[in-house]
Amino acid sequence: METKKVLITGGNRGIGKGIVEGFLENGNQVLATCRDITKFPIKSDHLTVAELDISDADSVENFKKIADEFGPEILVNNAGITKDNIFLRMSDDEWLDVIDTNLTGTFRVTKLVAKGMLKQKWGRIINISSVSGMMGNPGQANYSASKSGIDGLTRSLAKELGSRNITVNSIAPGFISTDMTENLANDDLLKKIPLGRMGVVDDVVSLVLFISSEDANYITGQTLVVDGGLFMK
Ligand code: NDP
Repeated sequence: METKKVLITGGNRGIGKGIVEGFLENGNQVLATCRDITKFPIKSDHLTVAELDISDADSVENFKKIADEFGPEILVNNAGITKDNIFLRMSDDEWLDVIDTNLTGTFRVTKLVAKGMLKQKWGRIINISSVSGMMGNPGQANYSASKSGIDGLTRSLAKELGSRNITVNSIAPGFISTDMTENLANDDLLKKIPLGRMGVVDDVVSLVLFISSEDANYITGQTLVVDGGLFMK
């Protein structure tokens, strides 16, 4: 894999941390963001860490200079949250927080880097969505809506940016063992997964690395599912 400059949001834990490690292991230059840089768990000469809250327009604006100087060739929009509740009990805040972080946050960060990619005439944008956005999930109306929004954003951007050799894809994981899914694993859930297990972070990382590579030059506008067969169209 040719080494690149890679920006990853929410790189301090879970899937994002795995993605940071994956790109570093392959010799890339990584700019990782998190909300508290004093607690960032990885150190490397190839790694810069910056503070960014993607739900806060001011924080994104403050981050702009760092992103411009770094000039990412690959962007992984990974940061995201859940605030689950059954629909009739879901508050405006629960709805808005999730949409603002997952969908608007992805929009904001992508906007920061798209101009540079257009100038470079090369780029990879990878948005982490979810099978929840494709199949729906009870208690996750906000989260599912935000993630299918990300898939729609992905396809529109793929059409807008394709002529400049920028590919835009989303990756839709199923249930991956992280803090986010800590209390979810149970026999009923596992029975619904043909491969019979929760995913691990590396199951997602390997797909992110592939879709970022020159081997994936002709793949754009896709939502690539990595879920052990949980959702089949
Ligand atoms: P975690 O909860 O383990 O990590 C979430 C990451 O996002 C953390 O780094 C967190 O930072 C960051 N984050 C949350 N809100 C913000 C914000 N406002 N600004 C900046 N960073 C923020 O989740 P996962 O690793 O499991 O999930 C990563 C991505 O994968 C998410 O988009 C999630 O929706 C998606 N996904 C996960 C699945 C799973 O099964 N785990 C399945 C499908 C999709 P902090 O530490 O500061 O909170």
